[in-house]
Amino acid sequence: MSIHRIEQIKKHNAEVYHNIPYDLYKKITEKCLICGFNSIVELHHMDENHSNISGDNLVGLCPNHHAMIHHRDFRDEILKKLIAQDSTKKSETDFSYI
Ligand SMILES: [Zn+2]
Ligand SMILES: [Zn+2]
Repeated sequence: MSIHRIEQIKKHNAEVYHNIPYDLYKKITEKCLICGFNSIVELHHMDENHSNISGDNLVGLCPNHHAMIHHRDFRDEILKKLIAQDSTKKSETDFSYI
């Protein structure tokens, strides 16, 4: 499969499956927000509402951290790490929805 074809599929997934502009999807899934892993990055919706596509609701997570955030036992730990990561970048972010 050519690189071009893969890009086409990713673009299609972003726009049809995730319903977000590809540029935004690409930016968010650049790397895992927690560990920086950048080979496989999945899109996670902070409020679990897949139609809420505002920037603050979307985070990129590697498969490990994505599985953890959906796991009852690890959820709090990951959320704390995300908040710590995020507050270093944009302190004005409101995390009241967590
Ligand atoms: Zn990770
Ligand atoms: Zn998720």
